Amino acid sequence: MKQCISCGMPMRKKEDFANQDMTKDYCVYCVKEDGSMNTFSEMVDGTAKFLIQTQGLSEEAAREAAVYQLKQLPHWKNAEE
Ligand SMILES: [Zn+2]
Repeated sequence: MKQCISCGMPMRKKEDFANQDMTKDYCVYCVKEDGSMNTFSEMVDGTAKFLIQTQGLSEEAAREAAVYQLKQLPHWKNAEE
């Protein structure tokens, strides 16, 4: 099973992959409609929002956690905020 290099989501079926292309290393949620990948700050925003909703973190704590989580993933290892 593949895992998205950008958000870590497990990708099992065609619909999980960007452009429904199973050779891709990233998922449908990590690309924009024009096919370009989300930037690091867009990923931090999205992840932070998710953490605030699901875990009730403060904005600041959520952003810190989001940056930490994303940096565990191969695509963002050396990313700058
Ligand atoms: Zn992804």
